[in-house]
Amino acid sequence: MRNKFALLILELFFCLFTGCAVNPITGEEELMFFPEEQDIAIGRQYAPEIEKQMGGRIPDPALQNYIDSVGQSVARVSYKPYLEYSFVALNDKSINALALPGGAVFVTKGMLEKLDSEAQLAAILAHEITHIVARDVSNAMSNQIGINLVLSAVTSKKTPQSVLTIADLAQQIIGLRYSRKDEQEADLGGLNYMVAAGYNPYGMVETIQMLQNLNQTRPIEFLSSHPSPENRIGYLTQAIQTKYYNLAGLKIAKEDYYKSVRTRLGN
Ligand SMILES: [Zn+2]
Repeated sequence: MRNKFALLILELFFCLFTGCAVNPITGEEELMFFPEEQDIAIGRQYAPEIEKQMGGRIPDPALQNYIDSVGQSVARVSYKPYLEYSFVALNDKSINALALPGGAVFVTKGMLEKLDSEAQLAAILAHEITHIVARDVSNAMSNQIGINLVLSAVTSKKTPQSVLTIADLAQQIIGLRYSRKDEQEADLGGLNYMVAAGYNPYGMVETIQMLQNLNQTRPIEFLSSHPSPENRIGYLTQAIQTKYYNLAGLKIAKEDYYKSVRTRLGN
């Protein structure tokens, strides 16, 4: 009995220091004492490696500023405006967007070439911001990679020998997959954020529809990592119709998007 108690105390201390906890019902590792500062440290550590593996930044400061300013305008109205967000366009042909814990958001050239307005860009960024705010990214890391492994690269700058390199871990982070429940929440939360930032919410419906159409001919990376919940277009449209009566004055900004992104990418 005493041994058991000692073990419990030991586990408690371990979890306090590492941020892990095991759910007694499912037996799965869960984030319970995982402080948000750790999210930020993880994001900082992995962002350069993710950039490197996904073609690097598109070398166009004006385009990057535009992407970042749209993202910042949405992030400022989120539930966690205090995080240090960054929105970076990567020179990768996959059609994708991803987020790291703590505030880093990436969108690929492949995705930017398919989007058709600033409202659609805001929709994708708002969706990713919601994953960060809800800490879906840290949860996915915890469940799909193992938080101690992810953290080992943050705390020691190198992972334990014979385990994985930071490059391997970044690869796994790129391949993280959200649950359909996370997706529905990110869609609906993102919808609120984009409207609060002044964007027409139909930008979200159009974007998801476009990705789902493309997915019929080849698998779209964004939909592999952000799998579509059932009736995605239906619940988005319903949310818009019941929550937002007056869309007048909400931005679509197609011309701005073409001028700042599409023509600069040469398409
Ligand atoms: Zn998602």
